[in-house]
Amino acid sequence: MKEKHDPANSLQNLDQFGEFGGVNPSITDSATYTFMNESIMQETFHGEAHGCFLYSRHWNPSNKYLADALSAMEGSESAWVTASGMAAITTAILQICNSGDHIITSVTTYGGTFAFLKNYVCKFNIDVTFIDISDHDSIKQAIKPNTKLIYTESMTNPMLQVSDIPAIADIAHANNIKLLVDNTFTPLVISPIKLGADIVVYSMTKFINGKNDCVAGAICASEKFIMEISNVNNGTAMLLGPVLDPLRSSSILKNLATLPIRMIQHSKNALYLAKKFDELGLKYIYPGMPGHPQHELMNLMMNDGFGYSGIIAIDLGTSERAAPFMERMQHRGVGYHAVSLGYFKTLFSNSGRSTSSEVPVEIQKDMGMSPGLVRFSVGLDHDIEHTFDLIKLCIEEL
Ligand code: PLP
Repeated sequence: MKEKHDPANSLQNLDQFGEFGGVNPSITDSATYTFMNESIMQETFHGEAHGCFLYSRHWNPSNKYLADALSAMEGSESAWVTASGMAAITTAILQICNSGDHIITSVTTYGGTFAFLKNYVCKFNIDVTFIDISDHDSIKQAIKPNTKLIYTESMTNPMLQVSDIPAIADIAHANNIKLLVDNTFTPLVISPIKLGADIVVYSMTKFINGKNDCVAGAICASEKFIMEISNVNNGTAMLLGPVLDPLRSSSILKNLATLPIRMIQHSKNALYLAKKFDELGLKYIYPGMPGHPQHELMNLMMNDGFGYSGIIAIDLGTSERAAPFMERMQHRGVGYHAVSLGYFKTLFSNSGRSTSSEVPVEIQKDMGMSPGLVRFSVGLDHDIEHTFDLIKLCIEEL
């Protein structure tokens, strides 16, 4: 099932330096670019000139450095960087689907993605079927002649269900459908393109940047797809303009270099907490533990050496129990009661009342999301034993 891919080595082997020999690539903060030769400007407009830049909404050198690093990491032919994760998701979807098309999506996704698919694409007469992504028969049954896309997250937010990317890719490709995977929760851990996905999207706001100082996103795909989204006449990225600022690209590129060691530490700390939660007899979800329904699948799909990522969820039954628990954790210094993830501090929030609040309560119930689910993005804590002691205290005080 696994094609051997070492995403960290691919990243590290990249030689990217500035034109004056700077060990960091130079930052190009120009909106527009001059041409000495008019015909080369024409060729650039028609996508025929290589290595030339036209206008920064289309491409700019700093974004290209980051995009190249991301494609090396993903094993994709190309990439494009966006001003947010939602910009990456919406650009990719709107590029693939036209009015009258149909999408099949995991019902469990980030709340913003759910809202886009549930409430927004209907404006364009795009029809969406929500399914349980672990039920492959339901995917097959949902396929219609106009289905263009299957959408899922490698590890879904917040239920931490693991998508069987090779199997879903087989279903998609047998029916001439594209598979688009959001890999925000598992950079380096899972390489969806290597497992058969056509397009991978990221919220780089999370683990990839890891500093919570900006929102950003990325689309990794074939050269053809990236050329299509940036086409000056009909490309969704070019025409809707969700481009990332080059100053941000350059700072994210530097943070990307430490992603391998950060993922190892996030995963190590999350696994420690999972084992301790298990000993305490708590109800929790973590794909790194044998009790998780897709633990074996995850073992088959994951790259070596980065663990099972840093997201873990515990179920306290009700939001009335979750609220004081989170307030106490914040007070005792476990981390911050905040949405988002992939930060060096531990972040936690009650999913049903925060990042999944766009999902109607009945659908939350259907997908098995407890109102007391507290999702943790486990930080880079040096002393995770102490962090666990604090969490345990907060549980005992409930
Ligand atoms: N994908 C996932 C899995 C997320 O958790 C989020 C945000 O929480 C997004 C996409 C959206 O990313 P952004 O907030 O950068 O637009």
